[in-house]
Amino acid sequence: METFAKIDAAVNFDIADEAVVDRLGGRVCCKECGQMFHLKFNPPKVSGKCDKCGGELYTRDDDKPESIKHRLEVYRESTAPLIDFYKNKGNLVDVDARPAPEAVLKEFETKFPKN
Ligand SMILES: [Zn+2]
Repeated sequence: METFAKIDAAVNFDIADEAVVDRLGGRVCCKECGQMFHLKFNPPKVSGKCDKCGGELYTRDDDKPESIKHRLEVYRESTAPLIDFYKNKGNLVDVDARPAPEAVLKEFETKFPKN
């Protein structure tokens, strides 16, 4: 049932729940300019302060532990079933999302080379 678009490929960024919690859970955002930091992977130079503008950093509601847990539940219920759907159609592409972002991008670009 393709009512609006023909889908050439569906990409599954494969990663364990714990890693998702680790990555989303450490995100903080500047109240003033919106700049994102990560307490583990990309921490601000001064704790709690934005490197760019000195604004106060906060955790978005979306990135709080209970929200992350909820987002994972929603993913499992409504999104994960699509993995089998596209696998059966033969157009599912798995990308290992466990390495650092640059490595994930590299694998993605290998599977989808620019013309
Ligand atoms: Zn800022």
